[in-house]
Amino acid sequence: MMMDDFVASARAFLDGAAERRHDSARAWGSGSDRVTYFSDDVPDVAAEKVQAGRAWQRRRWEAGFGWITGPAEYGGAGLTTLHQLAYDTVEAEYDVPDTGVLSVIGLGMIGPTILTHGTPAIRDRYLAAMYRGEVIACQLFSEPGAGSDLAGVETRAVRDGDSWRLDGQKVWTSVAQHADIGMALCRTDPDQPKHRGITAFLLDLRAPGVEVRPLRQMSGGAEFNEVFLTDVVVSDDHRLGDVGNGWRVALTTLMNERATVGGGQSPVAGALSLPYLVGLLKSQGRDQDPAARRALAEFYATYAATGYLNRQARRRLESGEHPGPEASVSKLMYARNLTRGAHLAAEIAGPKLVADTGEWGTFAWTELLLSVPALRILGGTEEIMMNILAERVLGLPKEPGVDPNTPFRELKRAGGAA
Ligand SMILES: Cc1cc2nc3c(=O)[nH]c(=O)nc-3n(C[C@H](O)[C@H](O)[C@H](O)COP(=O)(O)OP(=O)(O)OC[C@H]3O[C@@H](n4cnc5c(N)ncnc54)[C@H](O)[C@@H]3O)c2cc1C
Repeated sequence: MMMDDFVASARAFLDGAAERRHDSARAWGSGSDRVTYFSDDVPDVAAEKVQAGRAWQRRRWEAGFGWITGPAEYGGAGLTTLHQLAYDTVEAEYDVPDTGVLSVIGLGMIGPTILTHGTPAIRDRYLAAMYRGEVIACQLFSEPGAGSDLAGVETRAVRDGDSWRLDGQKVWTSVAQHADIGMALCRTDPDQPKHRGITAFLLDLRAPGVEVRPLRQMSGGAEFNEVFLTDVVVSDDHRLGDVGNGWRVALTTLMNERATVGGGQSPVAGALSLPYLVGLLKSQGRDQDPAARRALAEFYATYAATGYLNRQARRRLESGEHPGPEASVSKLMYARNLTRGAHLAAEIAGPKLVADTGEWGTFAWTELLLSVPALRILGGTEEIMMNILAERVLGLPKEPGVDPNTPFRELKRAGGAA
């Protein structure tokens, strides 16, 4: 579809379905916007928002905008990343419910993984339901002993006829409290080298033996969870990819994660956007201050450059290619730049940041500042991104490590070294 026609149809849909944001509502000081990354709502409010998000995703779907880049056979519109970006740009002009709880992990990472590695039956069962807003998915990868060293997962999956029995603990699982399904990486053969003994599964988060416990963050809310799996039965037809091939499946998720995070799909992007920062400068009488203006310009230039880089990575991913170093570079730059933006906000707000004076838009930034460090960790920490760039792009020597053919069980016996 020609881009102009596509944008016109998006605008026609949005005109009928949502209110345009009034400039005053977007502007600094309206009091209706929160400056935050985590939603940190009390459970009832969070549940209401999730419902509103699901309902909006359904409306997008019905209008043909629910899965713009998805293949037509699974209900997608079969268009390109550029169409998705164009739609996002137009939609940002309207006041629509936040769909982050569905879109960042489920639609941004797990959906593309199911599309690449799921059987036709699994794709039929989940993809349209996810992009219609009916099924929320979470990512059950990290464990207490396996974060950066993700291939060290120890959650066991043991075959039992046509099913598998899962036991173990996952941690830092975003949105698990709202999720219907989770994608879990499990150790299926500890006698294989660690990258080769992993298998990926999709599991029902409401199945017996799944326990989701919230984790409180320093920003106040509890968006993360620990997820305990005790003898959880998963049918073999819910396996993603071959037995022992889970690492490859995980790489698809991780590449999409970097592209999603580095692409500004995190709520912090909205909060640390130009209108907000300009608003803060103005409200504090610093908009004519050359140093503040320069800092703001640097922030925005990096923000825009990261966006271009990320789009390139997303286009490559979409055409089935490796996203190349762009995904890692943009994830790294994006997180660093938002940290810079948050520090600028802190410098401008000054002591008002830590004392609630009642002046809207000053103390409100505290919550954001406390959540920005998360961006440097999620989706691969800053150090891990730099390792990837050093080794795979610059060709520098690899980190010293053990023989990659060592069976996982032996590694654990020797003390878990990577
Ligand atoms: C907001 C947020 C959301 C998240 N959501 C999810 C989710 O939904 N699902 C999920 O599975 N996980 C999630 N995570 C977890 C995230 O993937 C891990 O926190 C991350 O991979 C780091 O692992 P870790 O916390 O175990 O830290 P560790 O791996 O223990 O790292 C600790 C420190 O050591 C450094 N380090 C580790 N190894 C090396 C190395 N080889 N070289 C140099 N430095 C190194 C790290 O950079 C870090 O500074 C989330 C995290 C955050 C912050």
